[in-house]
Amino acid sequence: MVEAAVGAGVTRMITMGVDLERSRAAVSLARRFEPVWAGVGHQPSEASAFELEALGELARDERVVAIGEVGLDFEQPGSPPREVQTERLGRLFDLAVRLDLPVSIHNRGAAAQVAAAIAEHRGLRGVMHYFALEWDWAERFLNLGFYLSFAGLVTRPSRHALREVVKRCPPDRLLLETDSPYGNAHKRMGVPNQPAFLLDTADLVAELRGMTVAELAAQESANALALFRRIK
Ligand SMILES: [Zn+2]
Repeated sequence: MVEAAVGAGVTRMITMGVDLERSRAAVSLARRFEPVWAGVGHQPSEASAFELEALGELARDERVVAIGEVGLDFEQPGSPPREVQTERLGRLFDLAVRLDLPVSIHNRGAAAQVAAAIAEHRGLRGVMHYFALEWDWAERFLNLGFYLSFAGLVTRPSRHALREVVKRCPPDRLLLETDSPYGNAHKRMGVPNQPAFLLDTADLVAELRGMTVAELAAQESANALALFRRIK
């Protein structure tokens, strides 16, 4: 998959951890494959143990470029209670500020609470991953200094409001992702997503913004390197 991605022009990628065990797996992939970098975090809907101290140790690895995935998920059945998620998020944000790492934020049904938590953490920077909301929310997160990351969802023809956000997003705050193995482009529904398929999204985003894919790639890579500073 790494070879296929590099062959498609995706030269660097970040694999995110959703709990301690899978954050360790992300770091070992990042050590093994040069184009791969890691995020360590605890995904809000994960029921596994929350091991903040060990995540903090792991985050010191030079292949770790983000605290992610973190966030709030008020929709996924079986998720920890809202107050538990919120408390954990505050501690993960503290860790990110302390280590000067950006956060990759997952939000489902909790945009107001995520925005409030960001506002409480001075110096926090990061990205709203798999951004799927309308312009009012986009503007709110942009005003908090955050980047917006768009995935294959934008290729679904019904997503008019999201496409508006893609058009209006400031050029220096736009990122792209696959969210593999989820988040596939419209034309590939039903097959597992992979980093090489980022081009599906890039093609459409370039078209919506009236630029070439090469121009978009240059801008998007510069943005990613500005946010995820440890990537070389
Ligand atoms: Zn997510």
